[in-house]
Amino acid sequence: MEEKIKNLKRIVIKVGSSSITHETGEINLEKIDDLAWECANLRNHGIDVALVSSGAIFAGAHRMNLEEKPKDTPRKQAASAVGQVALMNTYARSFHHYNYQVAQVLLTRMIEENEVMGQNAKNSLDELFHLNVVPIINENDAISTLEIEFGDNDTLSAVVARTIGADLLILLSDIDGLYDKNPKIYPEAKRISKVYKVDEEIYKMAGDTTSKAGTGGMVTKLDAAKLCLDRGISMAIANSEDFSVIRKIVRGEDVGTMFIGGKDV
Ligand code: ADP
Repeated sequence: MEEKIKNLKRIVIKVGSSSITHETGEINLEKIDDLAWECANLRNHGIDVALVSSGAIFAGAHRMNLEEKPKDTPRKQAASAVGQVALMNTYARSFHHYNYQVAQVLLTRMIEENEVMGQNAKNSLDELFHLNVVPIINENDAISTLEIEFGDNDTLSAVVARTIGADLLILLSDIDGLYDKNPKIYPEAKRISKVYKVDEEIYKMAGDTTSKAGTGGMVTKLDAAKLCLDRGISMAIANSEDFSVIRKIVRGEDVGTMFIGGKDV
């Protein structure tokens, strides 16, 4: 860890809905606590860590005893607003356990199109890092529904990584990484260890998602990888089943799929 870690200054970690909620929609306390430990550990090594967390809609729907997952957008927005509170409370408790404060930062992809918004987001996040706080980011679903409709924060997390000049984005999913074809359909599929360029050949590998809680699938993860590589930022896709995978990625172990950016990671 010490070896690799020297080169990393700023990491964005994104967790999908299915990684931190139970099938029922209940927040998975054990997973949130494990994630908090991993982030605190990186932070203790002097690395700036921002977490992009999905799961608010699912958690909110569960809290309000709605059907499995709301289907229309206004209801998803309402569920997100309710679930966000529950999710942040849970994160705050777990991080506090490891001596870290968290901050809720709700953003939209607009930070990349609007220069003033982008600068404001960067200033806020820079200052939070400076103050040793772990920002926990989600889309502001009340004013933007892009991530609700497609991607479940995959794109937002890449936009955040670009905005704050991160060295590495880690997308944690229900799958070990990018495979040469969808492993949920083709058991013989092989994991791709390293990708240097996100081209047509890579896109051809991505099929439809089979996850119940997620809305992105592999395509939005590849779009995120493209956004990262364009700025020299490396990106990893790895399985959230065991969050120790974060440490392994940082150590440079061959887990998941690493999209190699220009920066020395
Ligand atoms: P999350 O909600 O955890 O972000 P998603 O469900 O959005 O994850 O995306 C992961 C899913 O993408 C996998 O469970 C798998 O069904 C699907 N998928 C499609 N093609 C591939 C591929 N080539 N390699 C890996 N996963 C793939």
